[in-house]
Amino acid sequence: MEVNTETELQPFSSRYQSEQDCMEALIAMKWPSGFVCPRCAHTRCSRLTSRHIPLFECGKCKHQTSPLVGTIFEGTHLPLLKWFKALELFLLEGGISAMRLSQVIRVTYKTAWLMLHKIRHAVGEFGARELLCGDVKVNSDQYGRNPSRCQFSHPYASAVVAGCTVTKSGEPEQVKIRLVPHKRGSEKRANRHDLTAFINEHVDVRTSVVQLFPQAFRLYMPLRKVVREAWESLKSTYGALGLKHLQAYLNEYTGRRRLLLSGELPGAEETMRQKLLQMCVEVPVLPYRRLIERQPNQPLAAAA
Ligand SMILES: [Zn+2]
Repeated sequence: MEVNTETELQPFSSRYQSEQDCMEALIAMKWPSGFVCPRCAHTRCSRLTSRHIPLFECGKCKHQTSPLVGTIFEGTHLPLLKWFKALELFLLEGGISAMRLSQVIRVTYKTAWLMLHKIRHAVGEFGARELLCGDVKVNSDQYGRNPSRCQFSHPYASAVVAGCTVTKSGEPEQVKIRLVPHKRGSEKRANRHDLTAFINEHVDVRTSVVQLFPQAFRLYMPLRKVVREAWESLKSTYGALGLKHLQAYLNEYTGRRRLLLSGELPGAEETMRQKLLQMCVEVPVLPYRRLIERQPNQPLAAAA
């Protein structure tokens, strides 16, 4: 995908032109009602600006903290401007590959790859906190398989459970797609036990009316369409994805889809960006060691 940096980055560039602009945006997001000491909850502080990253010292217990602590930006050596550009590009409709990001913001491929995983992690964790509620549909579906050309299924085709809330017109609004561990291959499907496990974990059953679609030939079609779009989109941006991080990419897709839906309203683009920034500020960074060790589908990874 071609990224036109001139036009795509224009709205961003006009708002955040310096490190200080970015830092102030982070501080405002972290402490929207003013400083709160993470140790004693005191609200008075002094701001020490002698360092590159500002420090806040609690007026009561003297604990010092930076706005980056507890965010995905903690410990970063990169300018925040590069991070903010990465967030902007992450919100492109198909997302952005690490290779492309590394070229646009001029960092190494490994740095770009890690930045995207950190953003993806924030979006995934944030999404996991929000249960589906209201009118909820749940499909036993498959990822990575085109039913009309099943001979071309992806080697990593996998059973998934997909769930969504629906708008008044029946369109999927908030969507979750979960890989079903151990059920790899184009003939495997999630059973009722898997659907129940999904509902227990991702649906607020007290406030929801849940409709199940456990049979392949009777799926909730608008939701099935989203799963296929996820497959097409991830395939075109990232190429072949192994199973190790696939769940994180699926979370990225559904998280971005939701952000973009909210940004369609006039004037809502800035709200959408602020929401993504909020996710990155509220979710602690994923340590590199945990990222590379992650094996969401342990038995599959062991078999691969
Ligand atoms: Zn304190």
